[in-house]
Amino acid sequence: MVDVPAMFPAWPGGAEVAVALTFDVDGEAAWLGEGPQNGRRLTLLSQARFGPARGLGRILDLLAELDIRATFYVPGHTADHHPDVMTAILAGGHEVGHHGYLHLSTDGLDAGAQRAELEAGLTALGRHGVRPAGYRSPGWELTPETLALLTELEFSYDSSLMADDRPYWETTGINGARPLLELPGHWSLCDWPYFGWTPYHGGLLADPAAVERIWLEEFESARQEHRAVTYTMHPEAVGRGYLERMLRRVITGMLGRGRPWFATHAQIAALANEPAARAASPGPAGSSR
Ligand SMILES: [Zn+2]
Repeated sequence: MVDVPAMFPAWPGGAEVAVALTFDVDGEAAWLGEGPQNGRRLTLLSQARFGPARGLGRILDLLAELDIRATFYVPGHTADHHPDVMTAILAGGHEVGHHGYLHLSTDGLDAGAQRAELEAGLTALGRHGVRPAGYRSPGWELTPETLALLTELEFSYDSSLMADDRPYWETTGINGARPLLELPGHWSLCDWPYFGWTPYHGGLLADPAAVERIWLEEFESARQEHRAVTYTMHPEAVGRGYLERMLRRVITGMLGRGRPWFATHAQIAALANEPAARAASPGPAGSSR
């Protein structure tokens, strides 16, 4: 297995770094998909519902105020049960990506069940006129069968794996099919490990000032290396009032430190998939970002 960094032309507008702000709008799906015991836990489900019902609006307002387009990974269950979420995200000019239907962990499903989950998600997003270009696996785990299905279903990228901190071409488990573009995230650049507490899963409830420092340090590294960087958030976490303020400080901190290009994952994937960029990868010429 060889991970080949993706090649890019210069970022648009002379930007030094491409920043993808991404949001997983899990809603109740994450807990309902975890098992039937959660179906009668009304507090847990209401904590999840805060995301689509309240947190998302805050995030969309912030992005509109700062004129930033982002990527929202929406489980089909969320799209079906909170259709206004899809309307609001699309009205803001944002990208919608695939995030399963009931947010089922791929490693617990065989290939047939994974296909059903993928197709149900496509159908649910399709009811809103969306054919997602990208996929992020629920819970950030996937299997060789998932990668094969993503190439078969002609997704242009995935955002679940972590073998590089630059976009790269993933070939693991694809068995001769075309490589799949990976736009990697990382747990340290995700709000959930810091702020995603529940009584059943535990958590940290970390100091947002510490996370703000970590995220801006990663931005500075990406800026110096002229690479792309992905931040992953959940409206039920980062949509809390005090964390919206943290996110605002992170974004304004980025704007104060350099020239970021706030891009959707689809925009970054489109650059990597340009014929000249593909021809240059793998190869010695050019720089990998
Ligand atoms: Zn999720």
